[in-house]
Amino acid sequence: MTAWRFPGAAPGEIPVFVPHIGVDTIKAVTDAFDVGWLGMGATTREFEQEIERFLQLNDRHVVATNTGTSALHLAVVLAGIGPGDEVIVPSFNFVADHQAVSSEGGEVVFCDIAEDDLGADPASIESVISARTKAIMPLHFAGIPCRINEIYAIAAKHGLRVIEDGTHSFGSAVDGRPIGSFGDLACFSFDPVKVITSIDGGALVVGDEESLERARRLRLLGIDRDTAERYKNKRAWDYDVVERGFRYHMTNINAAVGLSQLRRIDELIEDRRSACRLYNQVLSDVPEVVTPQTDFAEASPFIYTIRVLGGMREKLIDHLRDQGIATGIHFMPAHEYRYYASARRADMSVTTQISKEILTLPLHASMTAAVVESVAGAVRGYFGS
Ligand SMILES: *Cc1c(COP(=O)(O)O)cnc(C)c1O
Repeated sequence: MTAWRFPGAAPGEIPVFVPHIGVDTIKAVTDAFDVGWLGMGATTREFEQEIERFLQLNDRHVVATNTGTSALHLAVVLAGIGPGDEVIVPSFNFVADHQAVSSEGGEVVFCDIAEDDLGADPASIESVISARTKAIMPLHFAGIPCRINEIYAIAAKHGLRVIEDGTHSFGSAVDGRPIGSFGDLACFSFDPVKVITSIDGGALVVGDEESLERARRLRLLGIDRDTAERYKNKRAWDYDVVERGFRYHMTNINAAVGLSQLRRIDELIEDRRSACRLYNQVLSDVPEVVTPQTDFAEASPFIYTIRVLGGMREKLIDHLRDQGIATGIHFMPAHEYRYYASARRADMSVTTQISKEILTLPLHASMTAAVVESVAGAVRGYFGS
């Protein structure tokens, strides 16, 4: 079909995800090795400060972690979730979120999603609030902000914590304010396929100094005073261990990768936005396809998903594969996994329907219009549009 070749893909094949590792990132890694301090250190701190700047945080703070999942887990601990406590999480989500709750002995309660933004549905959240509910954990699906203002209003009314899953939405905004710059706790991921990567990594945003200190301690095995030394590429040899903790810190090398990517983030987001807008435009009049109902103005798009109506998704997947176009499914509903079979849940009709229809098309930064058009054209062609 075509002559281009994406890293890791056969000639002519279009993968769902393509990492963007340029010479700038390679050089950043080489330089980081030259410093000779591979573990958490000054570069980790610099990455945190640059994230704080990018997210326009004034009095809020960033704690870098080794994965997005560990950021979510730290948030669950900070929110005080323990055995018997319930956390309301959309089932239409990656299981990392549910497992972060389960890790602390908390109980996952599944809520449904809104049909337009595919994020947590506020009415569904309210329908499952009980005396044991401690927190709400909404996801901004695909980088498209969910109804977060309504969710904060519900949380305020019932005295609940909010853990925003921003793993899809680093750089997305609500009413002009970046996700993470307001509200309660927010988590991000820099895993290999996210909008920017640190190979593996994550970040937690907390709202006050006390939580910052606790999060840093939890991140480093409950050790009370080593973080300040490590930020100077040094170690403390005498310290106390004051609580249970984890090995969740980010290394200098990962931070160097993350920093190099963060320097290009405006361009990476703009490229992805343009690709999403072009997809929406080319697919707008295909009756069997529902495109995202947004102009992406406040979205930092992580994936581009469509809904395929009329039970045609599996056949479309096969058709696209025959054309060398890979697709993905985000997500299978978590309330159907064996481990969560007995978890309490709201009415799940939208999740059940959407999870049968949702299809992730390839989305990369520096995806040319020609590539977007060939993917969208293959979808149109299948439906004879
Ligand atoms: C990527 C992702 C995570 C976890 O992030 P990792 O960095 O891979 O641990 C959690 N939830 C969702 C929805 C994600 O997409």
